[in-house]
Amino acid sequence: MFNLDVRSVILIAGILSLLMATVLFFLRRNFPPSIRGLGEWSVAPTVIFVATVLFGARGAIPDVFSVVLANLLLLGGTTLMYFGSQRFYNLTPSFRPWSALVLLAMLPIAWFALVEPHYGVRVAIVGGLMSLLALAHARLILRHGARTFSSYFTGSALLLLALTQAMRCLSAFDLAAGDRIFDNNLPTQTAYVALNAFALLMTTIGVVLMATDKLRAEIEFLASHDTLTGALSRRVLIDACEQELERCRRKGHRMSLLMLDLDNFKAINDAHGHLVGDQVLVDFTIRAKAALRRPDRFGRFGGEEFVALLPETSLDEAFVVAERIRAAVKSSTAEQGCSVSIGVASNYAADTTVDAVLSRADTALYAAKAAGRNCVRAAG
Ligand code: GH3
Ligand code: MG
Ligand code: MG
Repeated sequence: MFNLDVRSVILIAGILSLLMATVLFFLRRNFPPSIRGLGEWSVAPTVIFVATVLFGARGAIPDVFSVVLANLLLLGGTTLMYFGSQRFYNLTPSFRPWSALVLLAMLPIAWFALVEPHYGVRVAIVGGLMSLLALAHARLILRHGARTFSSYFTGSALLLLALTQAMRCLSAFDLAAGDRIFDNNLPTQTAYVALNAFALLMTTIGVVLMATDKLRAEIEFLASHDTLTGALSRRVLIDACEQELERCRRKGHRMSLLMLDLDNFKAINDAHGHLVGDQVLVDFTIRAKAALRRPDRFGRFGGEEFVALLPETSLDEAFVVAERIRAAVKSSTAEQGCSVSIGVASNYAADTTVDAVLSRADTALYAAKAAGRNCVRAAG
């Protein structure tokens, strides 16, 4: 069977983490800046790898490097990884408390390395702090992360790290003063170290997955939403209408469509400029969405024309919603003199296409414009 010695396992896991750091480095260069934290995530495994090499060189180099500096880099790298995740979720990294805690921990570590060498005390301090860090990190990801495989994967890796470090910390009380990290007579200690290296590798793989997940979500959003207003794109809204119409035909439900068009919008552009016009479109979308319910969908059809899909809504109910939107828009954009006209239509049992409903909503909108604008008309 395999006969791997623990040092090799640690080295291999470290090299793999380093490769993941390289991947993160290139992701940072190629991904949009909206995906944050990649810089910290790519530097952290590199720092931890340097720490691993220094630990491995124990005996060949002075203890100040192989123990004190190595532990500082290990704790620093792990903290940096956590800061990267905080940035990833657009939070301000908690630099001060964690840096202070790490630097404070370095005092007894240096003391029990250089003045009064004691492996057990060092293991207890480093293990305890690492466990605390990993727990805080896992909590952050499981709390802020989306319910995706990548979040659960990273969260589990960090919980594994927290657990092994906690066990390592507790087991440290059995260690004698002269023990060393890679002593052959300490199999449980070396197993913990190997598990840590493995958990760190899993964490770096996890954050790569999280970053690509986020990129995919951003691309999907861009492809399905209007960039100016954030309303659904025409294609996505029509798809949603088709699905809803099909559901109506199967279950005998009613659905309604609102066709909304801003009044005299060209005059707003002419009087105040295109940028103000854009802002009016953004404000309008916020107001309209606020007046809709959760299952309703709202999309931009082009220019200053929008469509709302109201599932399981009768013509009368839809009329009330439309009137609510009209009133909200009139009150909010009064300074630009903007108002909206709305045409409302519901599906008939005989309707086989969305176009048929849309066309009636359009006719009702035309009637609203003809009636002097800033009003709602329903299709007959
Ligand atoms: P009506 O009351 O009859 O609807 O008149 P209107 O002026 O709103 O309609 P019209 O179709 O004459 O003008 C629409 C204007 O909307 C013209 C176009 O420049 C402007 N527009 C279309 N898309 C945008 C956009 O993304 N931003 C801005 N600022 N203006 C836009
Ligand atoms: Mg208009
Ligand atoms: Mg128009």
